Amino acid sequence: MTAKILDGNALSAKLRESLRQRAAELTAQGCQPGLAVILVGENPASQVYVRNKIKACEAVGVHSEKYEFPADTPPEKVLQKIAALNADPKIHGILVQLPLPPQFDEDEVLEAVSAEKDVDGFHAENVGLLAQGNPRFISCTPYGVMEMLSAEGISLRGKEAVVVGRSNIVGKPMTLLLIGASATVTVCHSQTRDLAFHTRRADVLIAAVGKPKMITGEMVKPGAVVIDVGINRLPDGKLCGDVDFDSAKEVASLITPVPGGVGPMTITMLLANTIESADRAAGK
Ligand code: NDP
Repeated sequence: MTAKILDGNALSAKLRESLRQRAAELTAQGCQPGLAVILVGENPASQVYVRNKIKACEAVGVHSEKYEFPADTPPEKVLQKIAALNADPKIHGILVQLPLPPQFDEDEVLEAVSAEKDVDGFHAENVGLLAQGNPRFISCTPYGVMEMLSAEGISLRGKEAVVVGRSNIVGKPMTLLLIGASATVTVCHSQTRDLAFHTRRADVLIAAVGKPKMITGEMVKPGAVVIDVGINRLPDGKLCGDVDFDSAKEVASLITPVPGGVGPMTITMLLANTIESADRAAGK
């Protein structure tokens, strides 16, 4: 069997077209969606992510503002900017690009963003709402994965889903969404004994680890849906996922590539959350 490849670029383009229309409608009503992005330090990967987010905003008609701070900025300065953006009616979403330099307490910064503008879904209040099954904002990467599954018409009800990784950004919210969709969910992490035992049981396998090609075809159940969240840079400069694509695609029924799978969906869901937030503001 050779798996069907889930094209995140194609699905993103389709979703972004309808987001562009929603943004235009809101703009016509005098409420153009607005996203503020805060970047601290000179991390090259973060700079690329921020640039791509700003470009995506421009393409769908979302107003964007970028605030860059040098790596040695005192946390108070960034907290002051967040407070100003919380109070700015032009801004409906605030994103603090992670990671932050060591002098920052990341939790403190994420909690400083108004929960109503927390389009990344990282604020404790929004994590709590998601855990209760009543989300306000769903963090963008797991949201994108759910959209990909839904676009393929994959029902999760009663399926065995295995999530490898338990981070606050991907693994945990992914797990909550899968539970909400009535899958039976197993979460694996660095202390899991016999990872392959679990992954081989997965009808839907989601890898979010950050280790190049660690999930091989032998660890995949025949016919499984394999979603690769990982983005890793190889010594030759090429990107690859956490799944060994070449061997896994011979076993799976559906698989996401890296690049061009979950990555573009993450940015698309950031736009969706920002527009949703503007929609709520317009309705107030
Ligand atoms: P983290 O480093 O925060 O979390 C990694 C998780 O993997 C941890 O829970 C860790 O376990 C677990 N893990 C580490 N080693 C193993 C192992 N040998 N077996 C099983 N589990 C293991 O990473 P993130 O969740 O932030 O990101 C994961 C990957 O996804 C990265 O490659 C990142 O670049 C990518 N990413 C992609 C995005 C996209 O848009 N496509 C967005 C966000 C991230 P433990 O908790 O025990 O340490």
